[in-house]
Amino acid sequence: MTEGRCMKCKMSVQIKDGKETVMKNGMKAMKGVCPKCGTKVFRILGKA
Ligand SMILES: [Zn+2]
Repeated sequence: MTEGRCMKCKMSVQIKDGKETVMKNGMKAMKGVCPKCGTKVFRILGKA
């Protein structure tokens, strides 16, 4: 499980349904949703 920061809860949460994705700038990120409120959460993992 990966932690990300939920903008709505304003705290770190475990990313639910996280999927790794590569952004246009070549950075890897984990995209998912907040388990508490369902808002999209993502976390930058570093260079791909
Ligand atoms: Zn949340």
